[in-house]
Amino acid sequence: MSTILVVTEILEGEIRSVSQQVYTAAVQLGRETGQTVTALMLGGGNLDALAETPGTYGVGKTVLVEDPKLERYSPDCYAAAIAQVAQAQDAGVVLMGASVTGKDLMARVAQVLDTSMAQDCVSFRVDGGTILFTRPLFAGKVLAEVKVTSTPVLATIRPKAYKAEEAPVATTVERAQVDLPEPLAVVEELLKSASKKLDVTEADIVVSGGRGLQGPEHWGVLEKLADVLGDGAGLGCSRPVSDDGWRPHDEHVGQTGKTVAPDLYIACGISGAIQHVAGIASSKFVVAINKDPEAPIFKVADYGIVGDLFEVVPALTEAIQDLKVGV
Ligand SMILES: Cc1cc2nc3c(=O)[nH]c(=O)nc-3n(C[C@H](O)[C@H](O)[C@H](O)COP(=O)(O)OP(=O)(O)OC[C@H]3O[C@@H](n4cnc5c(N)ncnc54)[C@H](O)[C@@H]3O)c2cc1C
Repeated sequence: MSTILVVTEILEGEIRSVSQQVYTAAVQLGRETGQTVTALMLGGGNLDALAETPGTYGVGKTVLVEDPKLERYSPDCYAAAIAQVAQAQDAGVVLMGASVTGKDLMARVAQVLDTSMAQDCVSFRVDGGTILFTRPLFAGKVLAEVKVTSTPVLATIRPKAYKAEEAPVATTVERAQVDLPEPLAVVEELLKSASKKLDVTEADIVVSGGRGLQGPEHWGVLEKLADVLGDGAGLGCSRPVSDDGWRPHDEHVGQTGKTVAPDLYIACGISGAIQHVAGIASSKFVVAINKDPEAPIFKVADYGIVGDLFEVVPALTEAIQDLKVGV
Protein backbone atom coordinates (compact mmCIF):
# COMPACT_ATOMS: atom_id res chain seq x y z
CA MET A 1 0.00 0.00 0.00
CA SER A 2 1.44 3.38 -0.91
CA THR A 3 1.72 6.14 1.65
CA ILE A 4 1.02 9.86 1.81
CA LEU A 5 4.30 11.49 2.76
CA VAL A 6 4.09 14.80 4.63
CA VAL A 7 7.26 16.89 4.58
CA THR A 8 7.55 18.54 7.99
CA GLU A 9 8.82 22.09 8.25
CA ILE A 10 10.93 22.66 11.34
CA LEU A 11 11.94 26.13 12.49
CA GLU A 12 14.14 26.74 15.52
CA GLY A 13 13.58 23.20 16.79
CA GLU A 14 9.79 23.34 16.49
CA ILE A 15 7.34 21.90 14.00
CA ARG A 16 5.65 24.80 12.20
CA SER A 17 1.90 25.01 12.65
CA VAL A 18 1.32 24.68 8.90
CA SER A 19 2.87 21.19 9.04
CA GLN A 20 0.48 20.20 11.82
CA GLN A 21 -2.38 21.38 9.60
CA VAL A 22 -1.02 19.30 6.71
CA TYR A 23 -0.81 16.21 8.97
CA THR A 24 -4.56 16.59 9.58
CA ALA A 25 -5.24 17.12 5.85
CA ALA A 26 -3.16 14.04 5.01
CA VAL A 27 -4.98 11.89 7.57
CA GLN A 28 -8.32 12.98 6.04
CA LEU A 29 -7.02 12.21 2.56
CA GLY A 30 -5.68 8.83 3.70
CA ARG A 31 -9.10 7.91 5.06
CA GLU A 32 -10.59 8.48 1.61
CA THR A 33 -7.84 6.87 -0.47
CA GLY A 34 -6.99 4.02 1.90
CA GLN A 35 -3.36 5.15 2.12
CA THR A 36 -1.26 5.34 5.26
CA VAL A 37 0.34 8.64 6.30
CA THR A 38 4.05 9.10 6.98
CA ALA A 39 5.67 12.24 8.36
CA LEU A 40 9.14 13.06 7.07
CA MET A 41 11.54 15.13 9.16
CA LEU A 42 14.86 16.35 7.81
CA GLY A 43 17.72 18.06 9.60
CA GLY A 44 21.33 17.94 10.76
CA GLY A 45 20.46 15.97 13.93
CA ASN A 46 18.48 16.05 17.17
CA LEU A 47 15.17 15.24 15.52
CA ASP A 48 14.26 12.51 18.05
CA ALA A 49 12.51 14.93 20.37
CA LEU A 50 10.02 15.81 17.61
CA ALA A 51 9.59 12.33 16.11
CA GLU A 52 6.40 11.39 17.93
CA THR A 53 4.59 14.71 17.51
CA PRO A 54 2.92 13.68 14.21
CA GLY A 55 1.15 10.93 16.20
CA THR A 56 -0.78 13.65 18.03
CA TYR A 57 -2.47 14.44 14.70
CA GLY A 58 -3.13 10.83 13.70
CA VAL A 59 0.07 10.13 11.73
CA GLY A 60 1.24 6.60 12.49
CA LYS A 61 4.81 6.72 11.20
CA THR A 62 7.70 9.17 11.16
CA VAL A 63 10.80 8.88 9.01
CA LEU A 64 13.85 10.79 10.26
CA VAL A 65 16.65 11.81 7.93
CA GLU A 66 19.64 13.26 9.75
CA ASP A 67 22.64 14.36 7.71
CA PRO A 68 25.18 17.17 8.21
CA LYS A 69 24.26 18.52 4.75
CA LEU A 70 20.73 19.09 6.03
CA GLU A 71 21.83 21.16 9.03
CA ARG A 72 20.89 24.36 7.20
CA TYR A 73 18.31 24.72 4.44
CA SER A 74 19.82 23.80 1.10
CA PRO A 75 17.12 23.59 -1.60
CA ASP A 76 19.00 21.06 -3.72
CA CYS A 77 20.01 18.76 -0.82
CA TYR A 78 16.53 18.90 0.75
CA ALA A 79 14.88 18.17 -2.61
CA ALA A 80 17.21 15.22 -3.22
CA ALA A 81 16.55 13.82 0.26
CA ILE A 82 12.76 14.13 -0.06
CA ALA A 83 12.78 12.52 -3.51
CA GLN A 84 14.85 9.58 -2.26
CA VAL A 85 12.61 9.01 0.78
CA ALA A 86 9.47 9.33 -1.38
CA GLN A 87 10.76 6.55 -3.62
CA ALA A 88 11.98 4.33 -0.76
CA GLN A 89 8.67 4.69 1.12
CA ASP A 90 6.56 4.14 -2.02
CA ALA A 91 4.85 7.51 -1.60
CA GLY A 92 1.82 7.90 -3.85
CA VAL A 93 1.31 11.46 -2.61
CA VAL A 94 3.78 13.99 -1.17
CA LEU A 95 2.35 17.00 0.67
CA MET A 96 3.90 20.05 2.31
CA GLY A 97 2.61 23.39 3.59
CA ALA A 98 2.50 26.16 0.99
CA SER A 99 4.88 28.33 2.99
CA VAL A 100 7.63 30.22 1.20
CA THR A 101 9.95 27.24 1.79
CA GLY A 102 7.28 24.68 0.89
CA LYS A 103 6.51 26.27 -2.46
CA ASP A 104 10.20 26.56 -3.32
CA LEU A 105 11.12 23.07 -2.19
CA MET A 106 8.24 21.05 -3.61
CA ALA A 107 8.70 22.54 -7.08
CA ARG A 108 12.27 21.24 -6.92
CA VAL A 109 11.14 17.83 -5.65
CA ALA A 110 8.74 17.65 -8.62
CA GLN A 111 11.64 18.30 -10.95
CA VAL A 112 13.82 15.61 -9.32
CA LEU A 113 10.99 13.04 -9.42
CA ASP A 114 9.94 14.12 -12.92
CA THR A 115 6.36 14.62 -11.84
CA SER A 116 3.97 17.56 -11.76
CA MET A 117 2.35 19.27 -8.81
CA ALA A 118 -0.48 21.44 -7.51
CA GLN A 119 0.74 24.51 -5.61
CA ASP A 120 -1.07 26.38 -2.84
CA CYS A 121 -4.19 24.19 -2.63
CA VAL A 122 -7.04 25.18 -0.34
CA SER A 123 -8.89 21.85 -0.38
CA PHE A 124 -9.14 18.49 -2.11
CA ARG A 125 -11.69 15.80 -2.80
CA VAL A 126 -11.39 12.23 -4.00
CA ASP A 127 -13.45 11.24 -7.02
CA GLY A 128 -13.29 7.57 -8.04
CA GLY A 129 -9.82 7.20 -6.54
CA THR A 130 -8.50 10.39 -8.20
CA ILE A 131 -7.49 13.32 -6.00
CA LEU A 132 -8.84 16.66 -7.21
CA PHE A 133 -7.14 19.67 -5.64
CA THR A 134 -8.76 23.09 -5.47
CA ARG A 135 -6.44 26.05 -5.98
CA PRO A 136 -7.20 29.75 -6.37
CA LEU A 137 -6.12 31.33 -9.67
CA PHE A 138 -6.05 34.87 -11.10
CA ALA A 139 -5.53 36.54 -7.74
CA GLY A 140 -8.28 34.43 -6.14
CA LYS A 141 -10.94 35.41 -8.71
CA VAL A 142 -11.54 31.77 -9.72
CA LEU A 143 -11.08 28.41 -8.07
CA ALA A 144 -9.67 25.70 -10.30
CA GLU A 145 -9.95 22.01 -9.63
CA VAL A 146 -6.77 20.31 -10.77
CA LYS A 147 -5.69 16.72 -11.19
CA VAL A 148 -2.03 15.71 -11.09
CA THR A 149 -1.75 13.06 -13.80
CA SER A 150 1.78 11.84 -13.00
CA THR A 151 3.01 10.00 -9.90
CA PRO A 152 3.78 10.59 -7.17
CA VAL A 153 1.16 13.30 -6.78
CA LEU A 154 2.76 16.40 -5.26
CA ALA A 155 0.88 19.29 -3.67
CA THR A 156 1.37 22.13 -1.24
CA ILE A 157 -1.46 23.08 1.11
CA ARG A 158 -2.13 26.73 1.94
CA PRO A 159 -1.55 27.66 5.60
CA LYS A 160 -4.80 27.60 7.60
CA ALA A 161 -6.74 25.86 4.80
CA TYR A 162 -7.06 22.95 7.25
CA LYS A 163 -7.27 23.15 11.02
CA ALA A 164 -4.79 20.96 12.92
CA GLU A 165 -6.91 18.43 14.81
CA GLU A 166 -5.62 16.19 17.56
CA ALA A 167 -6.33 12.49 16.99
CA PRO A 168 -3.59 10.71 18.95
CA VAL A 169 -2.12 7.43 17.66
CA ALA A 170 1.10 5.58 18.48
CA THR A 171 3.87 6.50 16.05
CA THR A 172 6.62 4.21 14.81
CA VAL A 173 9.88 5.97 14.12
CA GLU A 174 12.22 4.91 11.34
CA ARG A 175 15.54 6.33 10.21
CA ALA A 176 16.46 6.65 6.55
CA GLN A 177 19.83 7.13 4.88
CA VAL A 178 20.11 9.36 1.84
CA ASP A 179 22.85 10.06 -0.67
CA LEU A 180 23.12 13.82 -1.02
CA PRO A 181 24.95 15.97 -3.57
CA GLU A 182 27.32 18.76 -2.59
CA PRO A 183 24.97 21.68 -1.86
CA LEU A 184 24.80 24.31 -4.59
CA ALA A 185 23.18 26.84 -2.25
CA VAL A 186 22.82 26.98 1.52
CA VAL A 187 20.89 29.42 3.71
CA GLU A 188 23.69 30.90 5.83
CA GLU A 189 21.66 32.96 8.25
CA LEU A 190 18.04 33.50 9.17
CA LEU A 191 17.39 37.09 10.17
CA LYS A 192 14.62 37.37 12.69
CA SER A 193 11.99 40.03 12.25
CA ALA A 194 12.29 42.76 14.87
CA SER A 195 8.55 42.41 15.46
CA LYS A 196 7.64 40.09 18.32
CA LYS A 197 4.27 39.48 16.70
CA LEU A 198 3.21 36.20 15.10
CA ASP A 199 4.07 35.53 11.48
CA VAL A 200 1.30 37.02 9.39
CA THR A 201 0.42 33.60 7.87
CA GLU A 202 -0.01 32.04 11.31
CA ALA A 203 -1.99 34.79 13.01
CA ASP A 204 -5.72 34.33 13.69
CA ILE A 205 -6.16 38.10 13.51
CA VAL A 206 -4.14 40.32 11.17
CA VAL A 207 -3.99 44.09 11.69
CA SER A 208 -2.69 45.42 8.40
CA GLY A 209 -1.64 48.90 7.33
CA GLY A 210 -1.25 50.64 4.00
CA ARG A 211 0.00 53.96 2.70
CA GLY A 212 -2.83 55.63 4.58
CA LEU A 213 -0.62 55.33 7.69
CA GLN A 214 1.59 58.04 6.11
CA GLY A 215 4.87 56.75 7.53
CA PRO A 216 6.57 54.12 9.71
CA GLU A 217 6.40 56.37 12.75
CA HIS A 218 2.64 55.88 12.92
CA TRP A 219 2.67 52.08 13.20
CA GLY A 220 2.30 52.25 16.98
CA VAL A 221 -1.39 52.85 16.45
CA LEU A 222 -1.74 49.43 14.74
CA GLU A 223 0.60 47.73 17.21
CA LYS A 224 -1.61 48.86 20.09
CA LEU A 225 -4.69 47.42 18.38
CA ALA A 226 -2.86 44.12 17.72
CA ASP A 227 -1.73 44.05 21.38
CA VAL A 228 -5.25 44.34 22.79
CA LEU A 229 -6.44 41.67 20.36
CA GLY A 230 -4.10 39.22 22.09
CA ASP A 231 -1.37 36.68 21.31
CA GLY A 232 -3.13 35.41 18.18
CA ALA A 233 -2.81 38.78 16.44
CA GLY A 234 -0.10 39.66 13.93
CA LEU A 235 0.81 42.63 11.76
CA GLY A 236 0.57 42.87 7.98
CA CYS A 237 1.03 45.59 5.38
CA SER A 238 0.54 46.47 1.72
CA ARG A 239 3.37 46.19 -0.74
CA PRO A 240 4.32 49.87 -1.11
CA VAL A 241 4.68 50.01 2.66
CA SER A 242 7.32 47.25 2.68
CA ASP A 243 8.89 48.48 -0.59
CA ASP A 244 9.41 51.88 1.04
CA GLY A 245 10.98 50.24 4.07
CA TRP A 246 8.24 51.33 6.48
CA ARG A 247 7.73 47.69 7.48
CA PRO A 248 9.72 44.45 7.00
CA HIS A 249 9.07 42.45 3.83
CA ASP A 250 7.81 39.45 5.81
CA GLU A 251 4.67 41.46 6.64
CA HIS A 252 3.86 42.18 2.97
CA VAL A 253 0.49 40.64 2.07
CA GLY A 254 -0.79 40.04 -1.44
CA GLN A 255 -0.11 38.51 -4.81
CA THR A 256 3.63 39.09 -4.55
CA GLY A 257 3.74 38.74 -0.77
CA LYS A 258 2.15 36.38 1.70
CA THR A 259 -1.28 34.81 1.43
CA VAL A 260 -3.15 34.97 4.70
CA ALA A 261 -6.27 33.21 5.95
CA PRO A 262 -7.00 34.65 9.41
CA ASP A 263 -10.36 34.67 11.15
CA LEU A 264 -10.22 38.46 11.04
CA TYR A 265 -8.28 40.80 8.70
CA ILE A 266 -8.38 44.48 9.63
CA ALA A 267 -7.25 46.64 6.70
CA CYS A 268 -6.32 50.15 7.80
CA GLY A 269 -5.59 52.79 5.16
CA ILE A 270 -5.34 50.15 2.43
CA SER A 271 -7.06 50.98 -0.87
CA GLY A 272 -7.84 47.34 -1.78
CA ALA A 273 -5.95 46.96 -5.07
CA ILE A 274 -6.55 43.58 -6.70
CA GLN A 275 -2.98 42.50 -5.96
CA HIS A 276 -3.53 43.11 -2.24
CA VAL A 277 -6.95 41.50 -2.15
CA ALA A 278 -5.46 38.37 -3.78
CA GLY A 279 -3.63 37.69 -0.53
CA ILE A 280 -6.60 38.11 1.80
CA ALA A 281 -9.38 36.31 -0.09
CA SER A 282 -9.36 33.34 2.31
CA SER A 283 -9.89 35.52 5.42
CA LYS A 284 -13.11 34.70 7.27
CA PHE A 285 -13.98 38.34 8.01
CA VAL A 286 -12.47 41.49 6.54
CA VAL A 287 -12.91 44.82 8.31
CA ALA A 288 -11.84 47.89 6.32
CA ILE A 289 -11.05 51.30 7.76
CA ASN A 290 -10.61 53.94 5.08
CA LYS A 291 -11.47 57.60 4.78
CA ASP A 292 -12.52 57.21 1.13
CA PRO A 293 -16.02 55.68 0.88
CA GLU A 294 -15.25 54.71 -2.74
CA ALA A 295 -12.11 52.72 -1.83
CA PRO A 296 -12.25 49.26 -3.51
CA ILE A 297 -11.43 47.54 -0.19
CA PHE A 298 -15.06 48.12 0.84
CA LYS A 299 -16.18 45.80 -1.98
CA VAL A 300 -14.45 42.85 -0.31
CA ALA A 301 -14.98 43.91 3.30
CA ASP A 302 -17.61 42.29 5.52
CA TYR A 303 -17.63 45.41 7.71
CA GLY A 304 -16.46 48.85 6.68
CA ILE A 305 -15.73 51.98 8.67
CA VAL A 306 -15.46 55.19 6.65
CA GLY A 307 -13.26 57.52 8.62
CA ASP A 308 -9.80 58.71 9.54
CA LEU A 309 -7.86 55.70 10.80
CA PHE A 310 -6.00 57.89 13.28
CA GLU A 311 -9.33 58.45 15.02
CA VAL A 312 -11.03 55.11 14.32
CA VAL A 313 -8.20 52.72 15.27
CA PRO A 314 -7.48 54.24 18.73
CA ALA A 315 -11.23 54.32 19.44
CA LEU A 316 -11.53 50.67 18.41
CA THR A 317 -8.51 49.75 20.54
CA GLU A 318 -10.02 51.49 23.55
CA ALA A 319 -13.42 49.86 23.03
CA ILE A 320 -11.85 46.38 22.83
CA GLN A 321 -9.77 47.13 25.91
CA ASP A 322 -12.92 48.21 27.80
CA LEU A 323 -14.72 45.06 26.70
CA LYS A 324 -11.85 42.92 28.01
CA VAL A 325 -11.81 44.73 31.33
CA GLY A 326 -15.56 44.23 31.61
CA VAL A 327 -15.31 40.45 31.07
C1 LIG B 1 2.66 43.17 -10.40
C2 LIG B 1 2.17 43.85 -9.16
C3 LIG B 1 2.13 43.14 -7.97
C4 LIG B 1 1.67 43.77 -6.81
N1 LIG B 1 1.61 43.03 -5.64
C5 LIG B 1 1.10 43.60 -4.55
C6 LIG B 1 0.96 42.85 -3.35
O1 LIG B 1 1.33 41.68 -3.26
N2 LIG B 1 0.43 43.47 -2.26
C7 LIG B 1 -0.01 44.79 -2.29
O2 LIG B 1 -0.49 45.27 -1.26
N3 LIG B 1 0.14 45.49 -3.41
C8 LIG B 1 0.68 44.95 -4.53
N4 LIG B 1 0.82 45.70 -5.64
C9 LIG B 1 0.54 47.15 -5.56
C10 LIG B 1 -0.93 47.46 -5.68
O3 LIG B 1 -1.31 47.57 -7.04
C11 LIG B 1 -1.26 48.79 -4.97
O4 LIG B 1 -0.48 49.81 -5.51
C12 LIG B 1 -1.03 48.74 -3.45
O5 LIG B 1 -1.68 47.62 -2.88
C13 LIG B 1 -1.56 50.02 -2.80
O6 LIG B 1 -1.16 50.06 -1.47
P1 LIG B 1 -1.98 50.88 -0.39
O7 LIG B 1 -3.39 50.44 -0.44
O8 LIG B 1 -1.24 50.80 0.88
O9 LIG B 1 -1.81 52.39 -0.92
P2 LIG B 1 -2.81 53.36 -1.67
O10 LIG B 1 -3.34 52.74 -2.92
O11 LIG B 1 -2.09 54.65 -1.80
O12 LIG B 1 -4.04 53.52 -0.68
C14 LIG B 1 -3.97 54.20 0.53
C15 LIG B 1 -5.37 54.21 1.09
O13 LIG B 1 -5.36 54.80 2.37
C16 LIG B 1 -6.51 55.62 2.50
N5 LIG B 1 -6.19 56.63 3.50
C17 LIG B 1 -5.29 57.65 3.43
N6 LIG B 1 -5.22 58.31 4.59
C18 LIG B 1 -6.12 57.72 5.43
C19 LIG B 1 -6.53 57.96 6.78
N7 LIG B 1 -5.98 58.93 7.51
N8 LIG B 1 -7.48 57.17 7.30
C20 LIG B 1 -8.06 56.18 6.59
N9 LIG B 1 -7.71 55.90 5.30
C21 LIG B 1 -6.74 56.65 4.74
C22 LIG B 1 -6.76 56.18 1.14
O14 LIG B 1 -8.13 56.56 0.97
C23 LIG B 1 -6.38 55.01 0.25
O15 LIG B 1 -7.50 54.19 -0.06
C24 LIG B 1 1.27 45.11 -6.83
C25 LIG B 1 1.32 45.82 -8.04
C26 LIG B 1 1.76 45.21 -9.18
C27 LIG B 1 1.79 45.99 -10.45
